Amino acid sequence: MAAKVDLSTSTDWKEAKSFLKGLSDKQREEHYFCKDFVRLKKIPTWKEMAKGMTGKVEEPQYKKDKQLNEKISLFRGDITKLEVDAIVNAANSSLLGGGGVDGCIHRAAGPLLTDECRTLQSCETGQAKITCGYRLPAKYVIHTVGPIVHGEPSDSQAAELRSCYLNSLDLLLEHRLRSAAFPCISTGVFGYPNEAAAEVVLTTLRAWLEQHKDKVERLVICVFLDKDESIYRQRLPHYFPPDSPGPDGPCSQL
Ligand code: ADP
Repeated sequence: MAAKVDLSTSTDWKEAKSFLKGLSDKQREEHYFCKDFVRLKKIPTWKEMAKGMTGKVEEPQYKKDKQLNEKISLFRGDITKLEVDAIVNAANSSLLGGGGVDGCIHRAAGPLLTDECRTLQSCETGQAKITCGYRLPAKYVIHTVGPIVHGEPSDSQAAELRSCYLNSLDLLLEHRLRSAAFPCISTGVFGYPNEAAAEVVLTTLRAWLEQHKDKVERLVICVFLDKDESIYRQRLPHYFPPDSPGPDGPCSQL
């Protein structure tokens, strides 16, 4: 293990990164920026969450697949608190931090994150780059740049949003990581309409999980706003149809 490093005062990101890599999960906890972090096992899977839901799914768009429902979660809250292998940052092309979720992630991780990001130069729309998570409970941050949209998104903007998710997932596999949390990329200052973004996200994650489900433990859709929570609660059952235990069971009312 590298020599002990105090992450709140260290000024060398490379030294801090290699120090963190040598720590056990338990030892890393001492360096988190917060005490009220959320462990992955405390985040219910969609399979568990859907059990308690009421409402009706007329015609789900996809086949029921129990295994997939255990690989996806909807979580509402601050993505910086999640103890997953990687959180995804809705960054801007400079990668040097900004407002919204990007600002929250940089503040929580600390200045070493910006130092490492500076060495990555910049990032094009739809692309993704990975860094250490520093003081975050997440080991890594995957920075991706979503499209800026005014009004209705075009097909190419939808493709760019899709690429943000796919390129982030490629990095996840490349680094042999097994869990990730995504914010609602582009739907804040970047202006992508929330419903349309959710359709892109759910289509992309469903198709990706069908192909790669064995390689990941969990993908978390992390929503922050009431509006996004209700969109995903409504749309998830179409993409990830839940179990229906029988005509009188709870899910018959979904
Ligand atoms: P973009 O520039 O890609 O539109 P924003 O940061 O403006 O990114 O918004 C993306 C989404 O992230 C929005 O839904 C916003 O409410 C949400 N968000 C903001 N802060 C957080 C946070 N701490 N955790 C999770 N999501 C967040």
